[in-house]
Amino acid sequence: MIDGKVLENYARLVINIGVNLQKGQGLEIICPVEKYQVAEALTKAGYEAGAKIVQVRWSAQNIDKLNYENASLDVLTDIPKWYVDSKNYLVEKGFCYVAVSAEDPSAFKNISAQKIGEIYKARSKALKKYSDAIMANKIRWCVVSVPTYAWAKQIFPNAENPEEELSNAIIKTMRLDQENPLSTWQEHIATLEKRAGFLNSSNFEYIHFKNSIGTDLTVGLCDNHIWTSAKEKAQDGVGFVANLPTEEVFTAPHRLKVDGVVKSALPLCENGQIIDDFSITFKQGKIVDFYAQKGYETLKQLIETDKGTKRLGEIALIGKNSPVAKSNLLFFNTLFDENASCHLAIGKAYPTTVLDGDKLSKKQLESLGVNDSAEHVDFMIGTPDLVVTGIKKDGTKVPLMLDGDWLI
Ligand code: ZN
Ligand code: ZN
Repeated sequence: MIDGKVLENYARLVINIGVNLQKGQGLEIICPVEKYQVAEALTKAGYEAGAKIVQVRWSAQNIDKLNYENASLDVLTDIPKWYVDSKNYLVEKGFCYVAVSAEDPSAFKNISAQKIGEIYKARSKALKKYSDAIMANKIRWCVVSVPTYAWAKQIFPNAENPEEELSNAIIKTMRLDQENPLSTWQEHIATLEKRAGFLNSSNFEYIHFKNSIGTDLTVGLCDNHIWTSAKEKAQDGVGFVANLPTEEVFTAPHRLKVDGVVKSALPLCENGQIIDDFSITFKQGKIVDFYAQKGYETLKQLIETDKGTKRLGEIALIGKNSPVAKSNLLFFNTLFDENASCHLAIGKAYPTTVLDGDKLSKKQLESLGVNDSAEHVDFMIGTPDLVVTGIKKDGTKVPLMLDGDWLI
């Protein structure tokens, strides 16, 4: 279980490497209500690092479910101003933000995909200013996870103690089983930075993906794109790690230069509903066709959210030998599953993945090819036979990955 010394290390990792809280900063934590011990450990670690105040906001999917079942759509899509203000306040006051994500992947399976889609659409539109700030790294933020029973049961339906199994998997993927997790993370970050450095010095114009299940996709990269890895810089110049665990090296695809077909490699869990066995066809950056064996309506809702959800906002490379991939588990949680597999994201691109992107206007970002949207949803495309090739402006091809793993 993640408790005792392991929980202490976990909390210190999140506060000191994750959000990298500096003396005198505020800290906001969102945490599942049944995991109050985790919130408490994070609060302690926050004060230990010099926080001026720690605020905890509780999440409870069972309550959300009752609301979605019983309240009317016009009430559920009326996002209160106080809630929007409270999020913008975090940015104005320079808080650090820790999100403990531990959703039951099928919590809302009995609620109509359309209703859920409308609710999430209203929420992401109301919080656009806040999500723009987060994606431009105006504040330092970190998404982490803890096992909950409902979630663990989905991954280990036949285990005697599913929560224990999931705890062990999370401990391994977060490298909390190492003697000194903090220094292990510093080494791991350096390896990822080296790969990002190679990709940046290569200055590829396109990345090509191909595998045996039917993916044959060319993704153009934004002008002035920057490959980024674990360590990002917030606008105040202080480094942080936005996801723990993280294994990816990623950048911004050009919104007008994506062509071909991509097949999903893993199910996608979106808003408590599952989309599986799907494919998407792109022409000049735009989704022109899509199909899903399971969760078609959820995928349709996502793609139809706004103009930007018809284009891509992220391309990320991950080798099949990462601890998450080696666990051979499907976590039904993007934080883990995205670190097991190369992925793309539908929707907004991180402005920080182009040169000086945090200082550019919307127009300037668009002219470089950076996509904008109220959404950003990762989906996994990395299979064990995936071939990834970088293509330079002069046509030179550089093999980057073979059989799903790094060549560089
Ligand atoms: Zn990613
Ligand atoms: Zn992403």
